Amino acid sequence: MKKLEEYVVSIPDFPEEGIIFRDVTSVLQDAEGLQLAVNTMQELVKDLDYDVVAGPESRGFIFGTPIAYNNKKPFVLIRKAGKLPRETVSVSYDLEYGSAVIEMHKDSIQPGQKVLIVDDLIATGGTTEAMVKLVESLGGEVVGIVVLMELAGLKGREKLAGYRLDSAICYQ
Ligand code: IMP
Repeated sequence: MKKLEEYVVSIPDFPEEGIIFRDVTSVLQDAEGLQLAVNTMQELVKDLDYDVVAGPESRGFIFGTPIAYNNKKPFVLIRKAGKLPRETVSVSYDLEYGSAVIEMHKDSIQPGQKVLIVDDLIATGGTTEAMVKLVESLGGEVVGIVVLMELAGLKGREKLAGYRLDSAICYQ
């Protein structure tokens, strides 16, 4: 049986020279790869007690929903600005060029609820840090963050000091 990391295709010099892009689509398009990815992420957080799973557009949806479904928890969406139809809270954060805004429905998390954040990849940690702020602005408590891939060289983990972060694959 193939190991999880063997399903990830790494593309050198994409989207720019010097960057090795870790492609999640190669994991998803293989039935065993998809099962292994979800099962591994789920296993990493099986000791955690949480009420809600939250995941960002778009790849956080892919992994967050099956983890929520398998554990009989609700899944709440973190989306780019302007996509959610009801009342929202938002957080703005810096990107390499410019900035971005992410939003959640105001009623998606109740104060005091324990939240597990799920995403495909953590690089610099900027996106994850913004998600933590968003959840906390609603009074939620982030009890864990689980990602399929961590690009450790970009030190995202340091930005999230004090939070539990699990990754299924860690690239040094
Ligand atoms: P961060 O905010 O720097 O941690 O970037 C996180 C986001 O960047 C992830 O949710 C990905 O969508 C994207 N990203 C950065 N590098 C890669 C990569 O090598 N493969 C796939 N997505 C990437």
